[in-house]
Amino acid sequence: MTYPCKNCGKVYSYYSSLARHLKHECGVEPKFHCPLCPYRTKHKSSLNTHLNGRHMKLWSEVHTLPNGNKTSSSDGN
Ligand SMILES: [Zn+2]
Ligand SMILES: [Zn+2]
Repeated sequence: MTYPCKNCGKVYSYYSSLARHLKHECGVEPKFHCPLCPYRTKHKSSLNTHLNGRHMKLWSEVHTLPNGNKTSSSDGN
């Protein structure tokens, strides 16, 4: 028996988990999205903390990188 969230499709094994998800995760609307991973948060400070802690080097690299000049011509026929 699984309990899928009707809002986002996440599936939980226990109804209590789904209930917690609905209340604390799915019910909230995180405004700030991490551009480097699926992390989202309601607080900008949390996003900054996340970026500094998790993507500190990567984040600076992304910001210093010019436009990715990878010419991947994927013209599927
Ligand atoms: Zn959900
Ligand atoms: Zn991230």
